Amino acid sequence: MMVCWVPLATSLMAILYAIAQYYCPWIYLCALITLCYGLATGWLAARLAKRGHVRNSGFTALVAFSSALFGYYIVWGTHLFLWEGAQLGSVFNAFRPDYIWEWVQIGYQKGFWGLEKGGNVTGWFLVLVWLIEFGFLVIAPPLVSAGVMMDSIYCETCSQWLNYETLGRSVAIDPTGGLNISLINGIWPPLHAAPDAPADGPHLRLLLAHCPHCTELAVLKVVEVLFQKNEKGELEEKKKTVIEQALMNPDDADLLKEFSAVEETPPT
Ligand SMILES: [Zn+2]
Repeated sequence: MMVCWVPLATSLMAILYAIAQYYCPWIYLCALITLCYGLATGWLAARLAKRGHVRNSGFTALVAFSSALFGYYIVWGTHLFLWEGAQLGSVFNAFRPDYIWEWVQIGYQKGFWGLEKGGNVTGWFLVLVWLIEFGFLVIAPPLVSAGVMMDSIYCETCSQWLNYETLGRSVAIDPTGGLNISLINGIWPPLHAAPDAPADGPHLRLLLAHCPHCTELAVLKVVEVLFQKNEKGELEEKKKTVIEQALMNPDDADLLKEFSAVEETPPT
């Protein structure tokens, strides 16, 4: 099913993208739209794949890529239609590859848009802009979709996707790296015994995906959280995934949850 829905959704997004770019008056906003389109189509492909219970991130990326490539063609066709409209005779002519190719050449020579100074952007500089745009429109979606898929956990027993839940307890980072090594090797007792750390200081964040139905599948993700000042002097989280997906046995997961349960403080 996703094999039909992803190209369909991407094509629709491509038409909207071309319209938005056509009417967009500011160059920075245009760039932002390009970025959003790349991220959104990739995310959408993963979303549709997950809905269709597709677990293979490589296959999802392939579908996302071919859809994005077709979407790129739709973007050009829509662009040509918006500019030339009635002169083309028929909407379908806007999607003729030979017409589009001619349109690309016109763009190369005369340009479609300009910067504040110095007329329209043309020639090789425009080709460079097109290449960057191609990266966001066609290369980014499969990468984003594969990223989302690889971060998703599926319980084969219950045929359903699981969500990560951030555990209430944050653990102190072990400066010797010993804790990380035992986690990588699936040795959990050091984690249970590790000292707590305040969530507003450097710590390890624990995320657990535990199937609520069969309770058999439990996957732990550990993220190292550091704080850094940005240019404005505000503290910003800097996250690094230390453990991507560690399979836990259900008892260890329960134990971890128990250790992590935050005591409710009564409202004052
Ligand atoms: Zn399950």
